[in-house]
Amino acid sequence: MKLVADLHIHSHFSRATSKDLTFEHLHKWAQIKGVQVVATGDIAHPGWLQEMHAKLEAAEDGLFRLKEELASAIREQTPAACRTPVRFLLGGEISNIYKRGGKTRKIHNIVFAPSLDAVERLQTRLERIGNIRADGRPILGLDSRDLLEIVLEVDDRCHLIPAHIWTPWFAMLGSMSGFDSVEECFADLTPHIFALETGLSSDPPMNWRVSNLDRYTLVSNSDAHSPQKLAREATLFDTELAYDALFAALRTGDPERFLGTVEFFPEEGKYHLDGHRKCGVCWEPTTTLAHNGICPQCGKVVTVGVMHRVEVLADRAPGEKPARTHPYYSLVPLPEVLSEVHGVGASSRAVDQEYYKLLHRLGSELYILRHAPLQEIAAAGGMRLAEGIGRMRAGQVDMAPGYDGEYGVVHVLGGSTPQIDLFAGLIPSPRTVAPPNRYRKSSSQRR
Ligand SMILES: [Zn+2]
Ligand SMILES: [Zn+2]
Repeated sequence: MKLVADLHIHSHFSRATSKDLTFEHLHKWAQIKGVQVVATGDIAHPGWLQEMHAKLEAAEDGLFRLKEELASAIREQTPAACRTPVRFLLGGEISNIYKRGGKTRKIHNIVFAPSLDAVERLQTRLERIGNIRADGRPILGLDSRDLLEIVLEVDDRCHLIPAHIWTPWFAMLGSMSGFDSVEECFADLTPHIFALETGLSSDPPMNWRVSNLDRYTLVSNSDAHSPQKLAREATLFDTELAYDALFAALRTGDPERFLGTVEFFPEEGKYHLDGHRKCGVCWEPTTTLAHNGICPQCGKVVTVGVMHRVEVLADRAPGEKPARTHPYYSLVPLPEVLSEVHGVGASSRAVDQEYYKLLHRLGSELYILRHAPLQEIAAAGGMRLAEGIGRMRAGQVDMAPGYDGEYGVVHVLGGSTPQIDLFAGLIPSPRTVAPPNRYRKSSSQRR
């Protein structure tokens, strides 16, 4: 069964997240977005565990669903064309902050459990180490390797995936926070790591350049802090609906069962290039090196982004590929496409109305972005929308890359690219190599 999964999100117990991150809203938004398996988020938090007990019931092995009385009470809030069963998988993020080798490491890891009992045992173990009640994503003074040991002791069906591995401040390979390899981070327990989360600022081709990541399956998730951000990145499966089947697909990377990922254009991520947001300095890695990493505005060291960090660890040239790769599909969120088509803000009323109109007519957001025939999109939302989605599927976008915490901007209606022939029936094809030099704006224009 083909499944879209989003395995890294947060609950309302995490700092700086939406009050709407409840199981009811997640159940509804998973359908709107087109996701069948969504992580619960925040499995280290006792309050969230209470809500799991109160609102979820066991479904297939290791998976859960919203209780029927709760689901039926909100059924009408989901457009009929989007309605689909939703399963929850128990998984959440932990922030590990610790010293190793004389350096402070700050690393985020996502942890998964097959049962509520396992979650309870995990919380008991973690509560001895630090405060798990203050934040849905607890900060623990615990080595990532030792967290993995606890996870494996709690239940041998528990798993750990390092989160958004390239982000500068909180990641396994982060320039300011991490290590240079998986082995350095997880030491003797490295064989238990089988998948890595690429994060919003990197895509598979960037990861392919580092050969010591070849054996890991690359996953993508939304890291959503509100239900509306669900599935902005996601992981694609063709397996039975069961906890062990999903992880077996990730462990083996079997291309029949693990179908790849849905991605942001990595330039949209907040840490793609280098620079200083406050100083308006945005640099590609070579420019940063030419300035010895020093910001000309404030004289301090610039924040080194994901592109630069990849360049430092890479042992393959851009465009080179390992023997084993999986497909990936680069998308722009539908509200952003609509914002461009209609020339109004992505969170405006006009975009919201148009968004729901399309959901009612065509189906879920991911269906519209990935699969809906362009003729049908044109009929439901107009030629400009169809053209924008056609360009996005073909990778014909203009971008201003993100840097130093500032999200990048991607335009699908740039005007300089050739017209998409709507009636050629363009269907999305996986992108297998990164197009060379995708930046339309030079770093000097950004300053
Ligand atoms: Zn994180
Ligand atoms: Zn500066």
